[in-house]
Amino acid sequence: MKKLLSAAAVAVMLVCAGGNAMADAKNPKIGFSIDDLRLERWARDRDYFVAAAEQQGAKVFVQSADASEQRQIAQIENLISRGVDVLVIVPYNATVLNNAVREAKKAKIKVVSYDRLILNADIDAYISFDNKMVGEMQAQGVVAVKPKGNYYLLGGAPTDNNAKMLREGQLKVLQPLIDKGDIKVVGKQWVKDWNPAEAMSIVENALTANGNKLDAVVASNDATAGGAIQALASQKLDGKVAVSGQDADLAAVRRVIAGSQTMTVYKPLKVIATEAAKLSIQLVRNEKPAFNGEYQNGFKQVPTLLLKPTMLTKANVDLVVTDGFYTKAQLAAK
Ligand code: BGC
Repeated sequence: MKKLLSAAAVAVMLVCAGGNAMADAKNPKIGFSIDDLRLERWARDRDYFVAAAEQQGAKVFVQSADASEQRQIAQIENLISRGVDVLVIVPYNATVLNNAVREAKKAKIKVVSYDRLILNADIDAYISFDNKMVGEMQAQGVVAVKPKGNYYLLGGAPTDNNAKMLREGQLKVLQPLIDKGDIKVVGKQWVKDWNPAEAMSIVENALTANGNKLDAVVASNDATAGGAIQALASQKLDGKVAVSGQDADLAAVRRVIAGSQTMTVYKPLKVIATEAAKLSIQLVRNEKPAFNGEYQNGFKQVPTLLLKPTMLTKANVDLVVTDGFYTKAQLAAK
């Protein structure tokens, strides 16, 4: 009887502290809902995250929505009914998760937005690399080699809030040069689902529309940069047109070495995954994570942990090896 009473008392205490009454602070259950594990970067995020969380005693249930908003909502509902203590979400569509998040909060589950901000929803935390800074680096990288000329702005997925932040950063650098008349933006388009094939056909059309007179493609990540470079290569323009990227995908780092891609942005995924695992567990334990900023998501000011990206060009490409992201052999292999 004594035992039963104290268990009930603990449950009451947890509820009063705003936590999940069932939360097991020592061995929390984490639901990790990822937009799309078919992409290289997210599979790495998953591996680092699961390793870091398990090391701290947590159990992780991973789901991939494979770029479907309905599937992601169903998977989140499923994780809620499995009784997770915290949900970590890489949203496919930033604007459709408010009901799912409301359900989670009703069940006293903490919600962390991972890499991409969930909009208009009552989330507890956001962790990402500084996406505006990434956008600035992308523009700086191409401007350094093509300070004047015809620019094409190849945006990310319109469903991804990062795509807009990247564009903001890019324009911070480009707008003064556009106003001066040095740079002419000959076209811009968002790429659905960050799809490389779509990026390729957009750039093919841009080349046709401009009689092949393109000087730079400001691509928002490496997948879309890859599509753009394929389109350029079919006109023998690869290496002549400056192209930006992001993620330091293996194929992209090889292209930077070969000279067909001007730059990429290195974001140490182990750092974001490890920090995310740590802060998620802290939230379950009602501890205060070390945030360093806030973002307005349309519902609230979200406590945010922003990490620093690094611009990667041919000049400092060795960083991915010294940092343990790739081996030398991986970079050399074709
Ligand atoms: C991420 C990028 C990634 C892209 C496509 C963005 O939200 O910040 O790192 O390349 O999604 O998955």
